Amino acid sequence: VSDLIPWEEARDRVLAGVVPLPPVEVALEDALGLAAAGSVLASACMPPFDNSAVDGFAVRASDLLAITPARPLRLRVVGERPAGDASALRVDPGQACRIMTGAPLPEGADAVVMIENTDAWGAPSEASPGGATVEIRRRAHSGENIRRKGESVAVGAVLLEPGQVVRPPELGLLISVGVRSIRAYPLPRVAVLSTGDELVPPGADPGPGQIRDSNRPALLAALRRRGFPTRDLGLIPDDEGALTEAVLRGARESDFLLTSGGVSVGDRDFTHRVLARLGKVNSMKVAMKPGKPQLFGLVEGTPVYGLPGNPVSSLVVFDEFVLPALKKRAGRRDLFPPLFPARLGGPYRRTPGRTEFIRVRLAVEEGAWIARDTGPQGSGVLSSMTRANGYAILPADTGDLETGDPVLCRLWDE
Ligand code: AMP
Ligand code: MG
Repeated sequence: VSDLIPWEEARDRVLAGVVPLPPVEVALEDALGLAAAGSVLASACMPPFDNSAVDGFAVRASDLLAITPARPLRLRVVGERPAGDASALRVDPGQACRIMTGAPLPEGADAVVMIENTDAWGAPSEASPGGATVEIRRRAHSGENIRRKGESVAVGAVLLEPGQVVRPPELGLLISVGVRSIRAYPLPRVAVLSTGDELVPPGADPGPGQIRDSNRPALLAALRRRGFPTRDLGLIPDDEGALTEAVLRGARESDFLLTSGGVSVGDRDFTHRVLARLGKVNSMKVAMKPGKPQLFGLVEGTPVYGLPGNPVSSLVVFDEFVLPALKKRAGRRDLFPPLFPARLGGPYRRTPGRTEFIRVRLAVEEGAWIARDTGPQGSGVLSSMTRANGYAILPADTGDLETGDPVLCRLWDE
């Protein structure tokens, strides 16, 4: 008997409440990290012409059929092709052309022999008493060492699918075929506020019973490192009026609002009351550890996420719930980094009941993933988080685990 929601169901509820921002036209140089709002098709092909994949000699493969290790073949060298040179040039039977990587294939040639498989370039011979020649030591098949026109991208090929993110390879590919701008979803502007009368601003010295507000800088940093434009709404006292004002400002002036603290039902926990009054906000008790109490909903159409105040809880909920929600708001198709199986590096004692996200150090040892917990797993113990690079996700119904037990893990999505 519990009103706890399984974490995946809670995450699905959150995602169902988030819609992408309206797309905009973006110059390619500003598109890094953005998701395409529709398919982008190639209007040109890549490579734009047949060209050599190596430094060597462009030849006619049919000339080389009789070559054996004991019997190389001497061809007359009729020209030289540096990259960028597309002047008229023809390779006829008995001829070769010096060619560099990326240079257009001369007419008549259908293969390139690597320079390493040639010899005695330049020596005159019977075949060519006046001109330069080269000795070819190996046969070649037609098409060898040639990059065909359009082999990477054909005209009409899909360069980006809807929701696909522009990373450096996508950027390079789009530029290579002449795309100058795309329709993309902008990144949401994310506002962050923290609450708690026990907190002092990050730079201040705490008095008796006080601690520094570390969640707000940590959350702002988690956003900034992923490129989201941020707005720092500051440290808000546990006061309904002040919190109402800050939440409304955040909801009106940004595309996503994060609050920290006050999400439980304590006397001084105002966040859930204020959010419930201002919008359609659900209080969720999620069957996970850490991060059980959470709030999510819309205030004036803007998604608002109420994160728990415990420092580790707020970051775990950020990673597993907020980040996928932000990606959805940013129009992205892939919302979750993959889970993969690892083996526990040591025993782990636990009570069944809630899915547990333990901070682990993931590494490959002797060819297999090992997950070692990084120390005390309390929801306030940030120090064990600093030693981790991922989570092991222990299903709600599992009890004690032993060294070598299989666990599903996720490397942090950094
Ligand atoms: P709350 O969710 O407001 O009940 O806070 C739970 C715990 O997290 C308390 O021990 C708080 O002092 C602590 N806490 C809340 N907000 C922050 C914050 N911004 N930075 C560091 N610790 C916090
Ligand atoms: Mg509080």
